[in-house]
Amino acid sequence: LPPAVIVLGMAGSGKTSFVQRLTSHLHAKGTPPYVVNLDPAVHKLPYPANIDIRDTVKYKDVMREYGLGPNGAIMTSLNLLCTRFDKVLSLVRQRAPQYSMCLMDTPGQIEAFTWSASGSIITDSLASQQPTVIVYIVDSARVANPTTFMSNMLYACSILYRNKLPFIIVFNKADIVKPTFAMKWMQDFEEFLAALDESGSSYTSDLSRSFALVLDSFYANLRSVAVSSMTGEGMVDVEKAIEASIEEYKKDYLPIYEKTM
Ligand code: GDP
Ligand code: MG
Repeated sequence: LPPAVIVLGMAGSGKTSFVQRLTSHLHAKGTPPYVVNLDPAVHKLPYPANIDIRDTVKYKDVMREYGLGPNGAIMTSLNLLCTRFDKVLSLVRQRAPQYSMCLMDTPGQIEAFTWSASGSIITDSLASQQPTVIVYIVDSARVANPTTFMSNMLYACSILYRNKLPFIIVFNKADIVKPTFAMKWMQDFEEFLAALDESGSSYTSDLSRSFALVLDSFYANLRSVAVSSMTGEGMVDVEKAIEASIEEYKKDYLPIYEKTM
């Protein structure tokens, strides 16, 4: 089967915009994707979704019916979808001859997906059906501060270890801030420490140094790409990174999945 690409990232990092841009890029190439929206709370989608959680679960009704706030309603909506996720999986299987990859847009609030049972069930069931890759979107403009950068990377790291799937970091919004600095920090530990020193981040700096060491080995296991979902730059690099990740899935991840099933 073609690969599934799960798009994660902090609220506002540009997940939906990225899905939109990659979708139009793939359409233009004549290799359209199959697009699934898993965000029950989104008002308007800028791309045509093949499967939309909003058709199955009405977020506003969930809030009212279960007396929940926005976050609880998102989690409950995902749980409700999860009980019928076998239908989604079988559609994704059936449509395989018609698409190049299956793109999954996720809820704005990342924890709703990464720290919920339904998020794990969705991820694991996809990954045991077809090659699956995680794309982690980072807002380049918001990680210019080394401490913020590090906390975002630690979050990414925690997702990697939870999912055990090939992982691509996408530095989005390159039209606002060129993420060259971030790429440098990831390649060269010393560069990052220098930036940390310069920022004068007070008492946490010893801790930051230790984390920087941990992250160094995390970076060794992933790919990173700079894109702008606004201008479309970097989409070819994204495709290449996905291709390479699929090879990695087949070599390193598939054996694990086969063992645990
Ligand atoms: P999501 O919550 O992660 O799905 O984020 P959205 O895709 O809804 O994007 C959040 C905001 O960032 C929107 O206002 C987008 O227009 C904006 N945005 C997303 N990607 C880019 C980008 O590459 N460049 C610029 N300048 N803005 C972007
Ligand atoms: Mg979104």
